[in-house]
Amino acid sequence: MARPPAACEHRHVHYHGYFWRGSDEERSRKARDTHIDGPQFTTADVPPVKMCWWLRKPADKVAGTWGEPEGAAEWMAAQYEKVRTEIDGPDAFWAPAGGRYAAALRDLADGRDVTWQYQLGGDERAFVSVVACSPNGWDREAPCPVEGRGQAC
Ligand SMILES: [Zn+2]
Repeated sequence: MARPPAACEHRHVHYHGYFWRGSDEERSRKARDTHIDGPQFTTADVPPVKMCWWLRKPADKVAGTWGEPEGAAEWMAAQYEKVRTEIDGPDAFWAPAGGRYAAALRDLADGRDVTWQYQLGGDERAFVSVVACSPNGWDREAPCPVEGRGQAC
């Protein structure tokens, strides 16, 4: 059952997750579109220069939406698990276990955006980002990308 529209009027902070992996070559080729003024900014899937600009992209870029920071931080840890065996570097440093997970949870609870970036083999990189929404502290005018689509209320 869909909730009645009135439930959406009382907006509160929630979180959107974004995942991207690709080569450094692709990122440099699309460098102009990592900026909000880039010609293909809204359709480009490469991570924007500012994390909060993810909110300025369409809803199809959203990999998940959560009302609580715990769910968002757990999703980040799950994304890490997807690329864990490919990470080029000391595992203990990048692992979300313990301090890294706790720090992400704390930052998200405080309304700060969090990105984990992984260098993978073969010139590839993965970006795992969770962005606070409604409002975002760095881009208070940003509209919720999924509002009106029945996901965010
Ligand atoms: Zn939102």
